[in-house]
Amino acid sequence: MRRKDLAVSDPAELDDIILSCDCFRLAFADGTKPYIVPLSFGYQREDGAPVFYFHSAKEGRKVELSRKLAHAGFELDTNRAINENEKPCDFSVRYQSIIGEGTLTEITDTDEKIRGLNLIMDHYSGRANWEFPLHVLDKTVLFRLNVSEISGKKHS
Ligand SMILES: Cc1cc2nc3c(=O)[nH]c(=O)nc-3n(C[C@H](O)[C@H](O)[C@H](O)COP(=O)(O)OP(=O)(O)OC[C@H]3O[C@@H](n4cnc5c(N)ncnc54)[C@H](O)[C@@H]3O)c2cc1C
Repeated sequence: MRRKDLAVSDPAELDDIILSCDCFRLAFADGTKPYIVPLSFGYQREDGAPVFYFHSAKEGRKVELSRKLAHAGFELDTNRAINENEKPCDFSVRYQSIIGEGTLTEITDTDEKIRGLNLIMDHYSGRANWEFPLHVLDKTVLFRLNVSEISGKKHS
């Protein structure tokens, strides 16, 4: 990162930024064809490593690419605000953001699927003990993204 003074590398601080985000942008490179899609997400550390979960309908471009490529990038950001100034070049933006990449795995085990969906629900509802009817589980696809690279940046 060029601005090393803005880098965030402390795992607890990275986690705080991630947990205050509400949108997870998943990015694919399919040959020369890029695709980026905004998603809701669940997050936790597993054996100390960052892991994201996202869910989807059974079909569509991101599901196809997730299965085909099994590798994706991601971005999240939060706490954005504009620092205004008299001069245009002195405008700046405050933000906290995360960029990374990782490997995707489709979760098919029912118990693991329920745990992953509850992690997503926990992120948005603060509750992780929801029940999911079987017909809902059947029509829902869940992916896990195991992070291999991650960086954080904080601009105030
Ligand atoms: C804040 C937020 C949270 C979301 N959370 C989820 C989630 O948790 N799970 C989930 O499955 N979906 C979520 N969505 C919807 C998601 O962004 C996609 O629209 C949806 O998943 C379909 O993606 P797909 O790749 O299957 O596209 P397809 O249905 O296969 O559509 C293909 C084409 O449609 C266009 N397209 C698809 N999605 C979008 C979009 N969001 N905006 C503009 N154009 C689009 C693109 O050109 C794409 O190539 C969320 C969207 C937002 C904005």
